[in-house]
Amino acid sequence: MCGIFGAYSPRGKKVLEDVYLGLYALQHRGQEAAGVAWVNEGGRISSIKGSGLVHLALDQAKLAEIDASCAVGHVRYSTAGGPDLANAQPLTASTSKSSLAIAHNGNLTNAAGLKLFLENRGAIFYSATDTEVILHLIAHQPHKQPLDAFVDSLTRLRGAYSLAMVIGQDLVAARDPWGFRPLVIGMRDDVYYVSSETCALNLVGASIVREVEPGEVVIFGPGGIETIRIPVNVKRRFGCAFEFVYFARPDSVIDGRSVYEVRKDLGKKLAQRAPCPQAHLVTGMPDSGTIASMGYAGESTIPYEQTVVRNRYVGRTFIEPTQRVRELGVRIKLNPIEKILSGKNVVVVDDSIVRGTTCQRMISMIKACGASQVHVRISSPPVRFPCYYGIDTPTRVELAAAKMNLRQLEREVGADSLAYITEEDLIDAIGLPADTVCTACFSGNYMEGEEDSEPGL
Ligand code: AMP
Repeated sequence: MCGIFGAYSPRGKKVLEDVYLGLYALQHRGQEAAGVAWVNEGGRISSIKGSGLVHLALDQAKLAEIDASCAVGHVRYSTAGGPDLANAQPLTASTSKSSLAIAHNGNLTNAAGLKLFLENRGAIFYSATDTEVILHLIAHQPHKQPLDAFVDSLTRLRGAYSLAMVIGQDLVAARDPWGFRPLVIGMRDDVYYVSSETCALNLVGASIVREVEPGEVVIFGPGGIETIRIPVNVKRRFGCAFEFVYFARPDSVIDGRSVYEVRKDLGKKLAQRAPCPQAHLVTGMPDSGTIASMGYAGESTIPYEQTVVRNRYVGRTFIEPTQRVRELGVRIKLNPIEKILSGKNVVVVDDSIVRGTTCQRMISMIKACGASQVHVRISSPPVRFPCYYGIDTPTRVELAAAKMNLRQLEREVGADSLAYITEEDLIDAIGLPADTVCTACFSGNYMEGEEDSEPGL
């Protein structure tokens, strides 16, 4: 997971507060750490990183004062490397030719092999992230100009990378040739932005220019914008379906498709495929199932009700996991409204079942309020395979839908009925050609099955 944001002003405007705000809007993509890196007057790179949420990790007022017109930032959700601060990004480095800072969203699938190759040639890694491999690959080609070394390095990578970088005094954005993770360009006056999602561009008042194309490197420098193709031939695109299902903010637009509209349509299609005529009301798991549940309600004409209220101030790290708190479990975060649920047949819509814990707890909570029947509808196909491209899914043995068939899972979570959307309906709702969408977590069709996965070094 993770979110990245970059800003560049060719006229020397200060951009650090915008980067801070951009990260603030991308907070949902990672809550473990946040950081920014920028170019100083003399071309040196400075960075500040901290643990936790953006407003705790970074000092907005201090950043706003710093005179920097080229900067990148990152919010971290650790998928590769642990949560400690050494793994927080942007990572920075200096070579004899240039200073570098890198913010990465995605997971490289051949990082271990590359790391071994580099270590055998003397590289010393200071973090446990796959991202650091990219810096070492650049440093490994000292005879080349940094940008050429960077583009060459990208040809060695497999898997997912959306990058916002500082190379020298330029802002550089790059997206892997498969286009796993989103990355979009924005502009306000003469300031350029790159962002994981459009919602962050909305916040800084930037208009959306276009996506960084899969396989494209975009350089924002004093001379304007330059673009380079990464010389890797790929058979097809692999844009992440799970961004639409769960991960991206609903007010974002990915590949020209509104995430909100896709989720609503998923709910509508679920209502067509898996109707529940005996239900008195439709509700969504807050907040992940809310939009799809409204789509379900609209299509089925069963009334929508908000039956569970979420404490919106609950963070991941705020409450100590004592025994008492563990016993309270999901109630710390969610509280059902008994008056609405009592005696009712309820359709509960959520976006996904991963380990199955959330679903099980929600059903028992709703039943404890006196609901007569709970029918669960999931707006993604069963998650049966781990993601190696940057979404934090557990191993197969922990994935509920990989261990159990539908009926077993229905019993396990305590639902009166359980139904998922089909992969065809998911693709249809996303509205992009099927051979451009990655469904590996549902289908097990990984990019490695189609492409040369170990490029030469
Ligand atoms: P689980 O309790 O493990 O079945 O998790 C499913 C719930 O977590 C769903 O309500 C999703 O909204 C949410 N979810 C799905 N994928 C992820 C993820 N990669 N990281 C965190 N939460 C997730």
